[in-house]
Amino acid sequence: MSQLNRQLFNEVMVPNYAPAEIIPVRGEGSRIWDQQGRDYLDLACGIAVTGLGHCHPVLAQAIAEQSQKLWHISNVMTNEPALKLAKRLTELTFAERVFFCNSGSEANEAAFKLARRWGNTQNPEKNEIISFYNGFHGRTLFTVSVGGQEKYTKGFEPLPGNITHLPYNDLATLADHISDKTCAVVLEPVQGEGGVTPATEAFLKGVRELCDQHNVLMVFDEVQSGNGRSGFLFAYMGMGVTPDILTTAKGLGGGFPIGAMLTTAKLAETLAFGTHGSTYGGNPLACAVACAALEEIARPETLANVQARGAQLRQGLQQIGERYSLFEEVRGMGLLLGAPLRDAWKGRAKDVVNAGLKHGVWLLVAGPDVLRFAPALNISEADLAEALRRLDAACAELAGSAGAAVA
Ligand SMILES: *Cc1c(COP(=O)(O)O)cnc(C)c1O
Repeated sequence: MSQLNRQLFNEVMVPNYAPAEIIPVRGEGSRIWDQQGRDYLDLACGIAVTGLGHCHPVLAQAIAEQSQKLWHISNVMTNEPALKLAKRLTELTFAERVFFCNSGSEANEAAFKLARRWGNTQNPEKNEIISFYNGFHGRTLFTVSVGGQEKYTKGFEPLPGNITHLPYNDLATLADHISDKTCAVVLEPVQGEGGVTPATEAFLKGVRELCDQHNVLMVFDEVQSGNGRSGFLFAYMGMGVTPDILTTAKGLGGGFPIGAMLTTAKLAETLAFGTHGSTYGGNPLACAVACAALEEIARPETLANVQARGAQLRQGLQQIGERYSLFEEVRGMGLLLGAPLRDAWKGRAKDVVNAGLKHGVWLLVAGPDVLRFAPALNISEADLAEALRRLDAACAELAGSAGAAVA
């Protein structure tokens, strides 16, 4: 057997990813360790997924217990963990009905298909989907087409039709375009991949009113902003607006793949028997882990920690930003924060991530110009302080080597 190293990746994997040089082999809480035993503080959470940190004992126990009972049964039969999870999601949110799947893309695919099918029942011409530039909704052909970044659809034409992209946080333009031929307006309450840009409350309230006026479904993609990351169980709860459909995934299973589409009893009727499905969706193993994760996330102490650590991270980033003239601002919600790079630093987000890894801290980018931070919801004050110290050291080194170009 050859060495399991980064070189082997190039020899056996499709080159659609460009992973870091290090290979993590173990994680605990907000730390991961690589093959050489070096530790890294985790401000990335596998792209906002491992919201309770790595190998959380309650989740590990849930998966171990369920793995001795029943893994998979298909939707030819229902199962206890799926019923329990759906019941809790309906108790904790606006939703009355739940559809389970295995990823964020699939949750959105279900939402968009529901919206199209619902539109068809109202009026055969009611099938336009409106979404926003810099939005991200997944990588299937339909979801990537609804997403608002051309770089992700280029070369994959022909794309699904009648999708309109408009500027985010621009209510006037939406008011001009929306019509009775629109079936859904789709948006992230905080755009994640597109740069960690929160919607303004006025925009969201305006979108809700326009949707009501034109009999249009409001779809919130909370794949990234959901499951406690915003400091609320779902971001809509802190924004004074309730959607008709909410999709989520990422943090829902705490690292185990699962996605969900949440909606009302009335709209759920659109996806009548046989209209949509998934082989794995709602399998007992995934649902058992997600049940355990949801209870941990929904605890007031967890959400309070998101608010407190969010404030700590924001302040720490502002200080680093000032010290090295690094950021235009620090924005976001709870523990989903973004820091757009300024001036000569623009385009260098990846360099900062690499410098961070060298100094033992893992963060994310959201495009070439924005650093993205998504630490565990339960990260301790001490771990976050240490992560900020390591990031500061990384930025100091970069600022020094960049020299006059940055000064
Ligand atoms: C990550 C993400 C998706 C896609 O989820 P996958 O699990 O990768 O399919 C969709 N929407 C948003 C907002 C996301 O952040």
